[in-house]
Amino acid sequence: MGDKIHKVKINSEKCIACGVCMSNDPNFFKLNEEKNVTEIDYSAKKPDDYTLEMIAQMCPVGAIEIYDENGNLITPNI
Ligand code: SF4
Repeated sequence: MGDKIHKVKINSEKCIACGVCMSNDPNFFKLNEEKNVTEIDYSAKKPDDYTLEMIAQMCPVGAIEIYDENGNLITPNI
């Protein structure tokens, strides 16, 4: 897998703050305690594509959205 991931974001409407992504990468995924949703710290080092896709697939509600360079949604694939 190359550098196919262009954009990653969290759908805050779906996120249930379960902690799965944060426990996998506590620097990149941070809990916004005020809103009780997870947010991405874009100043932190992005996990490599494989890891990021794996974490996104572990999200129980499909809230971690990953897009390729053409703006196509890679994950979740629903
Ligand atoms: S794994 Fe999904 S639902 Fe859980 S905190 Fe992360 S984004 Fe939110």
